[in-house]
Amino acid sequence: MPIKMISISPEPGHMIQHCAGCGAEHRISLNRGAQKAKIGPVSLHAGDTLEIRVDAQPPATVTFTPSDFADLARVTAAELAHVVQRALPGVIVSEDSGGLLIESATTGPNSRIEIVGGSARAALGFPTNGAADPCHGPPVLGVSFGPEQIQDPNILALRRCNNCGSNECLVRTFEAIGAELSGSYVAEHRRIVNTLAERCKACGWSHPDVAAHHAAETKKPVDIHAAFPERELHLAEFLRPAPPAPTARPEVAR
Ligand SMILES: [Zn+2]
Ligand SMILES: [Zn+2]
Ligand SMILES: [Zn+2]
Repeated sequence: MPIKMISISPEPGHMIQHCAGCGAEHRISLNRGAQKAKIGPVSLHAGDTLEIRVDAQPPATVTFTPSDFADLARVTAAELAHVVQRALPGVIVSEDSGGLLIESATTGPNSRIEIVGGSARAALGFPTNGAADPCHGPPVLGVSFGPEQIQDPNILALRRCNNCGSNECLVRTFEAIGAELSGSYVAEHRRIVNTLAERCKACGWSHPDVAAHHAAETKKPVDIHAAFPERELHLAEFLRPAPPAPTARPEVAR
């Protein structure tokens, strides 16, 4: 289930994504750029490096040495977080559901984390073919491939899952879904996505190429949670209980 939860506390808020590709869980902060490595443990070599660019700063190189780890062949996200935080005190580094999460300490459109090089990239799940995650900045509503190119004001593209390599997209939808579907996964996930999308729009977290489109909009999705952002939303609390398992029929004596 792609989006399990959304919250605005602590500011600027975050969502928890359950990757549809691999099942990994990811914390994705709103209005903050980040990158996350694949779920550990991972195997590194002595002297492996990771080059990390924070916001618009020149890239910094983190070097992994055997003395920082109990076992270089089974390095945990918590150990990696300790080393990266020590090397880059200005960023927010944590262990997130088994993977190393590196978040910019700044918020806003220029907040970003880019993995630009290093011999540890492959082991940590980061691309080595020059392809960059298009979503290394904060999540925004709307995608654009440039002026006069395809633009869509309803798509919210998520950060690359470096555990499996997928880039998931969420889609805002305006029309009401049938009431008989209330409580179903399809209806309730849709409602959470719409709520998240409208939060992005209300906060000005729009792709710049579609910001004018958003500003001119006069309608909102019908299926939305009015209780947000006053309280956090968990998808599971809105799902109808699954039907009970069929009970075994007693054997009928003949
Ligand atoms: Zn994944
Ligand atoms: Zn290596
Ligand atoms: Zn809740």
